[in-house]
Formats: sequence, C-alpha cells, structure tokens
Amino acid sequence: ERKPMMAANWKMNKTVREAEDYVAKLLPRVSDATDEVDVAVFAPFTSLPTVGRMTQDAAVIAGAQNLYFEDSGAYTGEVSAPMLKDVGTGAVIVGHSERREIFGETDETVARKAAKALEAGLVPIVCVGETKEERDAGGMWDKVSGQVRAVMEALDGPSGDAVVFAYEPIWAIGTGETASPEDAQEAIGQIRGLLGELGGEEFAGSVRILYGGSIKPSNAADIMAQDDVDGGLVGGASLEAESFVELVEAAR
Ligand code: 13P
Repeated sequence: ERKPMMAANWKMNKTVREAEDYVAKLLPRVSDATDEVDVAVFAPFTSLPTVGRMTQDAAVIAGAQNLYFEDSGAYTGEVSAPMLKDVGTGAVIVGHSERREIFGETDETVARKAAKALEAGLVPIVCVGETKEERDAGGMWDKVSGQVRAVMEALDGPSGDAVVFAYEPIWAIGTGETASPEDAQEAIGQIRGLLGELGGEEFAGSVRILYGGSIKPSNAADIMAQDDVDGGLVGGASLEAESFVELVEAAR
C-alpha cells in the first residue's frame, strides 16, 4: 500500500550548527522506522547542504522549502533544481501557503515549480489549502480543487510515487487549531477523488496526500489513522528532534 511520510518543515529556523545537532539526534532514532515511514527534513537553503551530507547514507530524505523553475541565469536570490540536486536534496516543498500568501506565489508559478522539480527528479510536495474566510464562506473546495487542478495540468501523467500532495488548511497552520481527524479525512478523500479524475485511478491510489497544520504528538495518531491521510507535514512540532521522532512513530 502507500508508504506513509512524516515531514519536518523547519521553515525559517536553525543555523547550520543547530541543524547538525538535530540530524545527529534524529538519525539513530528513526533508523528502524524508515522501512515503514518515509522521513523527510525540509531545511532552509543555508543548512540544506549539511542535512544532505548527513543523510547521504541514511534513509532520511533531505528536502528544500522552495525552488525556482529555471535551471540557471539572472534570477537574483533564487535557487534551481540542479543546485538542489547538487547538495543531496531528494524532495522540495512547492506552493506552501506562506509562499503563496506572503511572497505572492500563484497557482501558475506553483505549477511550473512542481513540473520543474518532477523533471529534475526531485519529489515535489505540493501544498494546497484554504483560509478561514474561504472555509466559512463555503469556498474551501473551490480553492483547493483549483490549486490541485493547476498543478495536475502542468504535470505530464506523473506516477504516484513521483509527487506528494499536502493538504494544509491555512487556519490550522501555527494556530494550535488542528483540523479534526474527520475534517482532514474528508478534505483529503475529496482531493484523492479529484486526483482520480485528473490522473487516473492508479495514480490516485498510489499518490500520497499528507495533512499539515498544528500536528503534535498528542493529536498525530488520530489524524494518521484516517484512511486517506498518508502522513504529515509538520512545522512547530518538528523543530525539536525528540518531538519529531514521536511523530514519525505515530505514522508507523
Ligand atoms: P505547524 O505544524 O507549525 O502548524 O505548521 C504546519 C506547516 O505549515 C507545515 O508546512
């Protein structure tokens, strides 16, 4: 069946030294779990080479939080897919709501980034999700389905293990207000249904869809137990290695 994934999104946190300490603690504690759970650490660009090097011989995936969709050139401040590959990166978050809301990324740029990652052999973790206002106004599915469609239109019949989706309702990110297990299941089940329409049943059956938003050790098991939830993308509770290890265990 689908192998669950537990992913730490450090966001804009940790120096190189702090990243080293974290990965040194993490690796021995998850070495048994990685047969059952894909464990990924999404680091800022500055500590990513360190994470890439330290995880080279481990089953832990080093991930980036963003990329640009050109390979090289006059794009000051940007980092490309080949550059990420060069430092041992295996996956990249694309279209995180913070990128969309704070840095103006659109469905179109997100789709181009996902396509570039896939083409380069990086697994894009495509984030989708609605705001509180959109949800309250009954516009959740309009928003989320539009985000999913934009990305699927840009990908050329991907296989289920080449891409991962993450449903991250914006009202649940960093707020302590987690979606209920039932809400997470409902949204993710709906996304899987749409992925079946867009990518075929085989794709929909094998593609992993994560939940993100205030996951912590006390609520992870209930969310992970939902049929369509294939793992988690975690901010705050991933910043301490000990607590992230607990989340990895909850996904086994
Ligand atoms: P929190 O776990 O801090 O709510 O963040 C979720 C998230 O945005 C992961 O990408």
